[in-house]
Order: sequence, then C-alpha cells, then structure tokens
Amino acid sequence: MNQAVQEKPAAKRKPKETGVPDNKKYLHPLMAKNYGDWKYHDRPRPGVLHHVAHSGDQIWTVRAGTQRQMDVGTIRLLCDIADKYAEGHVRFTIRSNIEYMVSKGEKVAPLIAELEKHGFPVGGTGNSISMISHTQGWLHCDIPATDASGVVKALMDDLIVEFRREEMPNRVHLSTSCCEINCGGQADLAIIVQHTKPPVINHDLVANVCERPTVVARCPVAAIRPAMVNGKPSLEIDETKCMCCGACYPPCPPMQINDPEFSKLAIWVGGKNSNARGKPTFMKMVASGLPNNPPRWPEISVVVKRILNVYKDDARPWERMADWIDRIGWPRFFEKTELPFTKYLIDDWRGSRSTFNASTHIRF
Ligand code: SF4
Ligand code: SF4
Repeated sequence: MNQAVQEKPAAKRKPKETGVPDNKKYLHPLMAKNYGDWKYHDRPRPGVLHHVAHSGDQIWTVRAGTQRQMDVGTIRLLCDIADKYAEGHVRFTIRSNIEYMVSKGEKVAPLIAELEKHGFPVGGTGNSISMISHTQGWLHCDIPATDASGVVKALMDDLIVEFRREEMPNRVHLSTSCCEINCGGQADLAIIVQHTKPPVINHDLVANVCERPTVVARCPVAAIRPAMVNGKPSLEIDETKCMCCGACYPPCPPMQINDPEFSKLAIWVGGKNSNARGKPTFMKMVASGLPNNPPRWPEISVVVKRILNVYKDDARPWERMADWIDRIGWPRFFEKTELPFTKYLIDDWRGSRSTFNASTHIRF
C-alpha cells in the first residue's frame, strides 16, 4: 500500500445536527424579548390569547385549526396571511393549530376575518375541544390500517362548534392512530385501530424480506418462532398467544395484519399527560370492534359525540374526562353513555407486566 496515502489523516466528518432547532430565532420579536417574563395572560374570546409582560409589552395570539397535512398552496396562503394581517411570524401547536402573533389588539379582528374567509376556523383555546392530533394515515406511513386525516376531517365537521367555543367542563384533547402500536398518544378521547385477527403470513416472501430474529424479538408476547415452510425459512405464529397488536408487521411486511374486514376501530377515553389536578393517566378502551368505514366513519362519529355530550352535561367545572370518570366510576360511565360493556374493555389486568416481553434486547 502506498505509504503517503496511508499516513494522510482522514478528513474529519462534521456532525450534522438533525435535531429540533433552537426556536428562539423564529419567535415573534416581542415573545423573544419577554421570554419567561410574563405578568399574566387572559383570553379575550375563544381562539385568542392575550399575554402581558412585566415590561408592559402586550401580544395577542390568534389560533386557527388546520388540516395538518397541507399542500404547498395552502402553506403559502397561511404565510401570506401572516405577512399581510399578522407580523410575519407563525407557529404550529402539537395539535396542528396555527398561531399568529400581533402586537396590537386592533389587528385581531381583521386577522380572524381573513382566516375564517379561507376556511381556517378560529378556536381551540381554553375549555374547548381541541383540533385532533393525528398520525400519518394512508398518505405517508407504510403500515396504517385506516386513514388518519380522513377520520379527523369527518369528526371535526361534527365537532367544529365545540372547537369554536369554550363550553366544555375542561379542555378536551382528541387523537387518532392508524395502527395499534406507534404514534398517537394519551388523550381524553382517542380513536385507535384495533386488529382482531393474527397476521396472515406470505411464506414465499419472508426469507427475502424479513430479518427473522428481529421479527421474533419484536413480538411482545413471544408468539412468533422460526419455521421451515415448503422448504423455505419462514416464521410461524402461535395464534393462541397472539394478541393481534401488529408489531411484527412493520419489520416484516409479509406478515400482513391489515384487513378490510377484521381491522376495526376502538375508542379509548381518560388519558392525559398533565399533572394539573390529578396525576397523568392512561386511556382505557370503552368501545371496540367499530367498523373501519371510510370515507366518513359515521359509526365512530356517533360514539364520540355520545361520550362528549354526556361528559359535557355531567362533569363538574374543570373536571377532565379522567377526573370525571374517576368520580362517577366506570359502571356509571357505561350506564350514562349507554355503551355496551363487554369483556374486551377496560383492561386492568396487572399480570401483563410479567408476561410481556420486557427484556433488555435492543429492538428495531
Ligand atoms: S399510527 Fe401507525 S400506521 Fe399511523 S402513522 Fe403512526 S406508525 Fe404509521
Ligand atoms: S400481531 Fe403482535 S402478538 Fe401477534 S404475532 Fe405479531 S407481534 Fe406477536
């Protein structure tokens, strides 16, 4: 080997920062100036926040709902509104709302009028129903069993009135997930895919497509084992153990679990992340086996509205969904919502901790 080439030190590769950028440089100048130094805030009307700083500066934030997955034309329109009616700064919230900041109260009304004119409803603050935090659905992800944006659009068409006003007992966070295992998150009310049959394996493809040990390690209840099928290395499932979670499907697409008939939707309630008033809580399933029925998912809408209406009528001021259920108890929840209680609901089985695959293996 050439000595000169061997001795030349390799050029150092610069690290690429791909994490979340520092947001300070994107903030509205008044926000950056008064960062962490606010005296108080209030809400002059639904959809508008008003912050007053110790320095005397004031800023109004107008919140509007968006569809989350937007084409370039819509984003340009939102930016044009920012330049013309706000002060050129926007931010998105975790529930896909867009927020515009203005430094004068008189700029709020024309901004709201412009947003509403283009179909972006203003609301989502205080004790309202939030815009639904949703996952990728058919547009971007490779494993969804249903759409996310479609469910959200159909539902928000029905719930838009409660987005625009602040008349719920407390804030209501909604979310949707288009598979059982990945995105989504805790919410007061969530719509989540529910598979009801184990995956169907295409044995011709497994050896070419899947790394079998990874797939075996992926199963939380150790239901998958290697097998030879028709002379080819493949996998098999112990269907008595399989809980139809779908976790084996992303690393091994030949283990097809999505099914037009047996992939259903379930509704979960009572999750929250905050520590306010009570500790954070996990959601519980209260309706299962609902049809996955695009493009409007009417059966979902009926159940969601029923739960929200009962919660609105029955909860005390400031009770989140979880607080309300805690107070009245699950039996009363099912009585009041008239949802059928079955053995598939409200899993409080503690034994899962010792039977689930809880090893320290690295998972991919
Ligand atoms: S919830 Fe599942 S299917 Fe939907 S986007 Fe996330 S990973 Fe994909
Ligand atoms: S669906 Fe879930 S429980 Fe069933 S085999 Fe796949 S990973 Fe295991």
